[in-house]
Amino acid sequence: MPEPDVDVLIVGAGITGIYQLHRALEEGFTASLLEAGDGVGGTWFWNRYPGARFDSESYTYGYLFSEELFDEWAWQEHFAEQPEIERYLNHVVDRFDLRRHMRFGATVTAAVWDEGSGTWAVTTEDGTTVRARFLVTATGVLSVPYIPDVPGREDFGGVQHHTGQWPAEPVDFAGKRVAVVGTSSSGVQVVPTIAEEVASVEVFQRSANWCTPLNNRPITPEEQAELRAGFEDLRQVLNTSVHGFHHPLNPRSAFEDSPEERQAFFEEMWASPGFRKFTSNYIDILDNPEANAEWCAFIADKIRSLVADPATAEALIPKDHRYGEKRPPYVTGYFEAFNRPNVSLVDLRETPIVRVIETGIETTDGVHEVDVIVWATGFDFGTGAMLRMGIVGRDGLALTDHWSDGPTTFLGIQTHGFPNLFFPGGPHAAAGNNPRYNGDQVDIVTDTLVHLRAEGGQVIEVTAEAEQRWSDMIDRAAAATPFGTIGQYVGGNIPGKPKRYLLNAGGRPKLFKEIARVKDTDWAAFTITP
Ligand code: NAP
Repeated sequence: MPEPDVDVLIVGAGITGIYQLHRALEEGFTASLLEAGDGVGGTWFWNRYPGARFDSESYTYGYLFSEELFDEWAWQEHFAEQPEIERYLNHVVDRFDLRRHMRFGATVTAAVWDEGSGTWAVTTEDGTTVRARFLVTATGVLSVPYIPDVPGREDFGGVQHHTGQWPAEPVDFAGKRVAVVGTSSSGVQVVPTIAEEVASVEVFQRSANWCTPLNNRPITPEEQAELRAGFEDLRQVLNTSVHGFHHPLNPRSAFEDSPEERQAFFEEMWASPGFRKFTSNYIDILDNPEANAEWCAFIADKIRSLVADPATAEALIPKDHRYGEKRPPYVTGYFEAFNRPNVSLVDLRETPIVRVIETGIETTDGVHEVDVIVWATGFDFGTGAMLRMGIVGRDGLALTDHWSDGPTTFLGIQTHGFPNLFFPGGPHAAAGNNPRYNGDQVDIVTDTLVHLRAEGGQVIEVTAEAEQRWSDMIDRAAAATPFGTIGQYVGGNIPGKPKRYLLNAGGRPKLFKEIARVKDTDWAAFTITP
């Protein structure tokens, strides 16, 4: 009977995987981690495109498990840029002596459950196999870049990169003619960041988005001191908040206020940092179409006031969706960039892309000659990485077959038929500030492993009934929410992908409730085998 090489094998050195490795070691398990990239950071390793930064406040996105760590790391900005995030995650890894448990450049190609030994055999691209009692795939939701199947991409003679697979060596933009394809969260960060140094940027937009200002700024020494002094309060707020942000909910409905008060409130929202415009807006901003329309009209007027050319301004105002039906991007100087003579919009609704040619992109109105193409065209969200790892569970069941209609899960951490496999930070994981939800999941995964050990068990698997209950809850909540009902969160951005809600539509309250139930019932949702 083959013995495991390690108790817990984690895949992915992103925020979730790092925390899972730390927790497993802390609880006395042997643990190691495989990472496809050459370094630490996961999403924040690969997405090193110009302008990549948090749009949740840095101190609410980082770890909260150690006050010493919180005290010794001084975030420079309220919304940190990618290089600082990567430095922070490397600091955490070294601070907690985790690097010696990690293997980089290790892409998992197969993970097969061996019923006889109760272990996972996990094989990497180089043919090496590691046997683990427990497999935790912390492979993230945004780790498989999507580039549309535009004919001729391989014919392009210039430089082309996807934002989610940005090279480590700097891309030279100076004096270059650049095409940015895609105008969601990634594309709108790239455009203003490169606008000054390039010869030109042409922004290829299929759908406009409801962008509002990030309102980033440096953290002053006084604010730094306040953050440190307020650590326990902040931790308390973030560990209990419904969405994982520290922004308070606003109990008021839009039409409780007069039109003048509403205008003043929207101005306040517009000037507020990041997601506050989402989480602290009128309570009915998503659910009441009229309230939503008022907010959209306010943003549209802002766009008209910021963009000098009226036709460009109109094209930058979304026409096909309401605020919140897609994840809203937060921007710094995006609309203003279109007032520069070297920045222009290509409206793909008017003139779609025909093909890529050696010298640029051909649309129905002619050829746009460029030196660099930035594909900011999104990701195979949620299930992308897990479905490409060759995961095979009990009785030869492939995860690709099990989830052929979209994922079903329990708590977004396990699925029936795949014993001892956990996937915090994957499908059904979050619907707000990701590290907070994903941290909750890592904690319950770790508690589950500790419980199993205490029970003298070797194998743990969620029951089909518990999974059904959780997945039904997700489907019901998804049918009721207007949030993220088109695009990546329902698989709508990938041709042929099954349409199923990929977030935890029930939100953090449901997660907390079900985790409490797991503990109160002594893990009744799982089958434990000695
Ligand atoms: P995305 O939201 O999926 O947007 C992809 C963009 O590419 C959209 O504008 C889409 O247009 C366009 N596109 C796709 N296929 C196209 C085609 N065939 N022709 C032309 N355009 C096409 O991807 P993303 O911007 O990378 O963002 C993904 C997620 O990453 C975000 O939701 C967010 O969670 C995260 N993110 C966060 C930050 C941050 O600030 N922290 C920054 C970047 C990303 P359509 O809308 O018409 O489909």
